[in-house]
Amino acid sequence: MPRLTHQQWQALAARQIFEGRAFIDGAYVAAVDGKTFATVNPANKQPLADIAECGTADVERAVAAARAAFEDGRWSGLAPLQRKTVLLKFAELIREHADELALLETLDTGKPISDALGVDVAGTAYCVQWFAEAIDKVGGEVPPLAPNLHGTVTREPIGVVAAVVPWNFPLLMASWKFAPALAAGNSLLLKPSEKSPLTAIRIAALAQQAGIPDGVFNVLPGAGETGRLLALHRDVDCLAFTGSTAVGKKIMACAAESNLKRVWLELGGKSPNIVLDDCPDVAQAARAAAGGIFFNQGEMCSAGSRVLVQRGVYAEFMAELKQAAEGYRPGDPLNPATGMGAIVDELQYRRVLDYIEIGKQEAKLAFGGHAVHTDTGYYIAPTAFETTPDTRIAREEIFGPVCAVIPFDSADEAIAIANDSDYGLAAAVWTRDVSRAHLLARRLRAGTVWINCYDEGGDQNLPFGGYKQSGNGRDKSLHALEKYTELKSTLLKLSC
Ligand code: NAP
Ligand code: MG
Repeated sequence: MPRLTHQQWQALAARQIFEGRAFIDGAYVAAVDGKTFATVNPANKQPLADIAECGTADVERAVAAARAAFEDGRWSGLAPLQRKTVLLKFAELIREHADELALLETLDTGKPISDALGVDVAGTAYCVQWFAEAIDKVGGEVPPLAPNLHGTVTREPIGVVAAVVPWNFPLLMASWKFAPALAAGNSLLLKPSEKSPLTAIRIAALAQQAGIPDGVFNVLPGAGETGRLLALHRDVDCLAFTGSTAVGKKIMACAAESNLKRVWLELGGKSPNIVLDDCPDVAQAARAAAGGIFFNQGEMCSAGSRVLVQRGVYAEFMAELKQAAEGYRPGDPLNPATGMGAIVDELQYRRVLDYIEIGKQEAKLAFGGHAVHTDTGYYIAPTAFETTPDTRIAREEIFGPVCAVIPFDSADEAIAIANDSDYGLAAAVWTRDVSRAHLLARRLRAGTVWINCYDEGGDQNLPFGGYKQSGNGRDKSLHALEKYTELKSTLLKLSC
């Protein structure tokens, strides 16, 4: 729970000093050509800081530093126990600086401070701790071979890893990539979104303070060019991305054009949340559905943006959903009582408002449907439309607090609607019949299926990622290590 009051957070914000430089080879540095861009607080439209805009020269320096660090083994060559010790210290430092990191996240993205503390920063520290604790427990295999052969199957760090991460959970999504990548012994180039670079820049110093050697953890902010430079670089071995499907496709093309670097994509979604007539508790399902689409201003890849409701409970569900949405009234993100903050920037705000206008043309508005506090910042009221599966608002990822509610008659129809999407990130089913729940879960083409809940499972043990155009590979869990390692078979012929 937040320990500070609204006034205390405001006072901290007024005193906050922002670091905007890149972090390369163990030091904060301006971009070589001196270029900067501004990052803006969407809650009041005020610029926060000038940020280094890394270009070719900066990328070259950072890749060379990361490669040198990898080759000389200052991190990659440590015993897993040693990397674990440093990463546990890193997790501790993140916790010690929780207030500052949460404040930066809230100012940069507009998300409520309570969420920044309780979800983003807490989840980041937990993720770093989890991979630290795991890395000296996982070993290789000794496969069963012919009597005159001895073989091992081992995992080795892949080398130089670039992580291009999004603005919706800037630090948390970064940690889902850098924690396993660093634990496995790689060198890292972290490229935050131009909408939210502040926390990535700040934690570079904490990584260094924890003992991560120079050159191993580099942060390269950019705005329009840096990501592509990394994706095209021939000395980057792996690029892990979270963001839109459109950019994911470009990254694959860049890899194909350059060195066939490993590409891991965690992309968009249009996740179906299916409420059946025998749902155990309609009010609870509606509260979870509201959280599934209005939490974090709806800026979530796993947002339950398609709510499929069986006709027998439809009227009751809609009434409960409207009531639950009251808990997400947009307000000042620095107020610990605020349930919904501001949309991340003007571009995304306009994009969401455009979709709301499209929704008004093609569907029936149930509630919301407008901007609020327009003289202050980029706020949008929680919005729901009642619609059919074929509309644009029911098919396209909006990435805002806009929910498409679709009535249906049978479970088979619900599954057909749910799977009729280019995406396959997450899904949920609400029923009191356990067998039915499992049978339906099996039929859903999604990387995560929740039963009688939505978006539960901050637990690191659960892999997270998508089917179809929601991406490939998995963040979280031991499976994440597969992305940042190469598998080596070593075979020895015994003389016997
Ligand atoms: P985006 O377009 O998907 O990604 C922007 C990021 O990708 C920037 O960091 C950019 O860096 C980098 N990038 C662009 N082209 C690249 C390339 N060829 N190679 C490597 N990196 C490249 O995100 P957005 O513009 O912020 O958001 C647009 C939409 O994406 C949203 O409306 C939402 O639908 C979706 N989105 C999804 C998620 C998710 O969690 N799945 C998160 C955020 C957004 P440079 O500009 O420096 O090159
Ligand atoms: Mg910002």
